[in-house]
Amino acid sequence: MNFKSASIQVVDRNGTIVIQDGILIESDKVCAIYDINEGFFKFECATRLELNTVLTAHHLRMKDLEEEERLCSECGVPMQEGFYFESDAKQYCSEKCLMQVITWEDYLSMHDNGNGDAYWTDWYDC
Ligand SMILES: [Zn+2]
Repeated sequence: MNFKSASIQVVDRNGTIVIQDGILIESDKVCAIYDINEGFFKFECATRLELNTVLTAHHLRMKDLEEEERLCSECGVPMQEGFYFESDAKQYCSEKCLMQVITWEDYLSMHDNGNGDAYWTDWYDC
């Protein structure tokens, strides 16, 4: 069976953690959340859409831990948006950090009006 998994937490609408160490398991037949500490599947659905619907009905949502660990390559702060360089997968939280490694002129030539491999982007879920 072909499936992928990701480390996640489940939080309620106040941000309180409901599942501390969860694994999201996704395949073409199942989409489920496994609770490592309790040792069983908390949510078992057929699709991601169905899972999200169930979570929303319980006023819960998933936090993808791997995605939240996006850190500035220069100063190391967690970031949700910033400058991204596709060529070497580096990212910078601000112009200040960007300027530590590249001049604005060089950035603009890499950016190439949006056709290049360096650009400002964000990683928000929705
Ligand atoms: Zn930075």
